[in-house]
Amino acid sequence: MNNEQPLHVVCSFNKDTMTTIIITAYIPSLDIWNNDFKTRKKNSMECVICKNGTTKPGFVTFTLERDSVIIVFKNVPAFVCENCGDFYLTSETTQLLLQKANQTLLKGVEFEIINFKTAA
Ligand SMILES: [Zn+2]
Repeated sequence: MNNEQPLHVVCSFNKDTMTTIIITAYIPSLDIWNNDFKTRKKNSMECVICKNGTTKPGFVTFTLERDSVIIVFKNVPAFVCENCGDFYLTSETTQLLLQKANQTLLKGVEFEIINFKTAA
């Protein structure tokens, strides 16, 4: 692996369509993250969506929809905003998530539940 810039993805859960939409990807600031970009100096940060809440480490369950395929991700490690409920995934988690999503798409199934507690 070369010196890739880690990206952090902000997801928003749409309760009407039951779909998670990835709305923002940003490069984390060195002020918040240690040099390895994997650990936070502080265990919380300001939510960039509502600017009103702080995010705390936790687990989220959400649904991804692509074409006619629906994938439910359970127990995904994330930083969750206490105020608006938006959550933030690390680049590592996002990569694993996309990898598993692609595996599901290749299988040709229409519905799959991926539990991160057992899959990771
Ligand atoms: Zn928020």
